[in-house]
Amino acid sequence: SKAGTPNTSCLYSATMDEVEIEPLTLKTELRHALPRGELLLQYQPQVDLRTEQVIGVEALVRWNHPALGILAPGKFITIAEETGLIIPIGEWVLTTACLQNKAWQAAGLRPIKTAVNFSAKQLELTDIVDRVQGILTKTGVEPSTVELEITEASLISNIGRCKTVMKELRALGVKLSIDDFGTGYSSLSYLSELPFDILKLDAAFVRPLQQAGSSLPCFVVAHAIVDLAHALNMTVVAEAVETQEQLACLRRMDCDQMQGYLYSRPVGPDEIARLLRPMVSE
Ligand code: C2E
Ligand code: CA
Ligand code: CA
Ligand code: CA
Repeated sequence: SKAGTPNTSCLYSATMDEVEIEPLTLKTELRHALPRGELLLQYQPQVDLRTEQVIGVEALVRWNHPALGILAPGKFITIAEETGLIIPIGEWVLTTACLQNKAWQAAGLRPIKTAVNFSAKQLELTDIVDRVQGILTKTGVEPSTVELEITEASLISNIGRCKTVMKELRALGVKLSIDDFGTGYSSLSYLSELPFDILKLDAAFVRPLQQAGSSLPCFVVAHAIVDLAHALNMTVVAEAVETQEQLACLRRMDCDQMQGYLYSRPVGPDEIARLLRPMVSE
């Protein structure tokens, strides 16, 4: 800023990076974010550990706030859930991600799957299956290329109802992932009761895999989760893979897929298209 000129016109100072400071302002503004076209999706590649090809992406929402710039979901998803805005936002995310998947295919790129985060609030809607079906139909996406990521924390309410809804969602042809696996309290019972196709190994299990020692407790625990998931016919995607050491460990425990900064940060649609183009090798 200019010397001697206090920046009084700026509503948000550089240090106001916590949502807690202006929750009312953000709450009001978030209501306008969707109609004003301020939300956008970035896509993080998911890589098959055997073929080393990009086989999917996870769609991650961002808010291009007029004053604050690009906000990560940590700054606004909680507000969206508390206000109910997560319902229209979640439907916009699913619709946009499905259309993007179709656009990549229409551009002649190799077909990939698209994973979308699904909020507990969405899962609780009585007509959620109809809503998802409506989006699949409207976008014309191939349902088997769509994955809904559900966190353990969303499942605490009514396990019987969750099971029914999940079976109906699967009947539409979409895949279901258990996200942030291992961070909740009932992980193992959910695995045996609910029909998941994919297990996302949380960063908490990936982070400590720094040395290549197979006898280390962190390796043994992660390996056991991978084996358990495979015994239940689930695919395992490791999250937040940042180092070659972690990747080497995950390969040794026969993990199926990875996503993380080691391969790529979440990026825009054009960058995904570039990664999928056949001439470009990894
Ligand atoms: P998540 O589903 O666990 O998504 C993965 C998060 O890890 C993303 O953060 C991603 O950018 C970050 N990440 C990816 N690779 C690495 C890595 O190598 N190291 C580290 N340290 N982090 C990595 P992001 O984009 O900030 O999203 C945070 C959370 O917000 C997501 O966690 C998800 O729970 C939620 N979220 C994002 N988009 C949506 C959405 O459209 N709807 C809903 N309901 N939640 C969303
Ligand atoms: Ca996720
Ligand atoms: Ca996750
Ligand atoms: Ca996480």
